[in-house]
Amino acid sequence: MDHKISVTVQIDMDGKNIRIITAGCLTRFSQSALLPLIRRARKLTPGARVTLDATPARHVEALGLDLLRDAIDDEVSHGNGPPVQFVVPAHLPGLLHG
Ligand SMILES: [Zn+2]
Repeated sequence: MDHKISVTVQIDMDGKNIRIITAGCLTRFSQSALLPLIRRARKLTPGARVTLDATPARHVEALGLDLLRDAIDDEVSHGNGPPVQFVVPAHLPGLLHG
């Protein structure tokens, strides 16, 4: 089973809304690849609103989301960039995929 993550970043024309769209697998392992990208997006424009959209993902691991949230919360609590809004599927898609 291959747990690959695929990421698309959408930025609107004034750079105020940044959407990080995650497809494939968001797991405890792949979230570490996502973090530097989220970090960069959060610093792109002062006052930008950053959204992580994991609804197209076919596999989302709760632990992966928790690790990501904790890492971002830690940076936010140190005044290091804006918070990130998470949009995730109501029921996390599981690991039964090829
Ligand atoms: Zn997977």
